[in-house]
Amino acid sequence: MPMRSAVSLGLLLLCVACATNPATGQRQLMLMSEAQEVALGREADGEIGGAYGLVADPELQAYVARLGATLAASSERPGLPWTFRVVDDAAVNAFALPGGFIYVTRGLLTHLDSEAELVSVLGHEIGHVTARHSAAMVSRQQLATLGLGIGMVLSPDLQRFGGAAQAGLGLLFLKHGRDAEREADDLGLRYLVRQGYDPREAVEVFAVLEAVSRRAGGGRMPNWLATHPPPEDRAQRLSAAIASGGLSGDRVARREYLARIDGLVFGENPREGFFVDGVFHHPDMRFRMAWPSDWKTDNQRQAVTAVSPAQDAVLVLTLAPGASAEQAAREFFAQQGLRPGAVRRERIGGLAAFGGRFEATSGQTILAGVAVFVEHEGRVFRLLGYTSRARWTAYEAILERGVRSFAPETDRRALDVQPHRLRLVDLRGATSVAEFVRRHPTPVGADVIALINGVPEGGTLRGDGPAKTVTGARLPY
Ligand SMILES: [Zn+2]
Repeated sequence: MPMRSAVSLGLLLLCVACATNPATGQRQLMLMSEAQEVALGREADGEIGGAYGLVADPELQAYVARLGATLAASSERPGLPWTFRVVDDAAVNAFALPGGFIYVTRGLLTHLDSEAELVSVLGHEIGHVTARHSAAMVSRQQLATLGLGIGMVLSPDLQRFGGAAQAGLGLLFLKHGRDAEREADDLGLRYLVRQGYDPREAVEVFAVLEAVSRRAGGGRMPNWLATHPPPEDRAQRLSAAIASGGLSGDRVARREYLARIDGLVFGENPREGFFVDGVFHHPDMRFRMAWPSDWKTDNQRQAVTAVSPAQDAVLVLTLAPGASAEQAAREFFAQQGLRPGAVRRERIGGLAAFGGRFEATSGQTILAGVAVFVEHEGRVFRLLGYTSRARWTAYEAILERGVRSFAPETDRRALDVQPHRLRLVDLRGATSVAEFVRRHPTPVGADVIALINGVPEGGTLRGDGPAKTVTGARLPY
């Protein structure tokens, strides 16, 4: 009998959980209500703002929000709290959270060439939301498992101090299946055409993505590409759909779009920190720090990390809560499960600091580490180095030296560094990329200029309006 009631409960659940999707017309397993979906998205939205930061350009934000809102209003779920934001990230990326929270990176914007191209990306992401792809996947995966696999370099006991693992960010890394991507492409096209845009511009986007993907090679793979089917396949599908008729529009709005992105920061922004030969310079916060030169480093907005080549030791720099180094240190060393050694006042790089060693138990492993807290220009920085206790003697000197290398930045060359910016140049007459680069010197290569203008390497710019270039100086070291 218990068996049978379990079975009938299962059947009941299945019926309740399956709903017909308004955008796709298909039955869909859905354990999450719309209210839950929106609540989940809203919570993650706050975390994304903190993790990436938003581009500080109200006009650009308003422009993207307006385009997105117009598209979403014509979708099958117009009542969601649709939100569109430009995140301050150099990677070429776009993503959607359940509930209608959609993001494009400034890296994507600098690579696109028209409003219609941007609208096609927004439409695709809206499609993921209207088809409830993320919400359905969360239902399948169970909410509890979200966030696993992110920030795992930090031990579970310590990760809440690293600020790296949050369930909300986990949502961004959900991989949609091939079918979901096709569905989002089709829905995106539907929304784009409803607003009178030229559907062929959606195909153009794939040429850009394909070129970005080819350049990225083994390097930093944009998530959008890593989690999507090959752009060539998608371009072919869309071309076929457009050729089969019924989809047309003529709005492209190239000049309007380009005027909006003129002056946008291009590539990584060195004011938010850059590495040169194992030294990390942070011009905006006016400090520097030396990292072991063969460690793998990563500069994220909330943390700078370095991992040993054997991946068995970590150095992490973050901002610490608390008004003083002493207060931040006290809070850190008083954590449950953490066994502090002698914690004392010291000076690091001439700055007031507090620090000491600790041990912590993480599952089967005992961790050993050093943590120091440094006051600098109104902020408290936390520098944390740790490994397993078994490896402590091997890393002690490196970790101690690392956390104590923090110092105020005094080198004018680092303090004055400026980001590269996208600039428009009015072209009259077709011009080869090589000739264009000769006329308008740029710190990036001719290949990058070709890429952002949507022409092949060694190709020719059309010369019937603005072309993109990148201005700025090379790094001063
Ligand atoms: Zn997608």
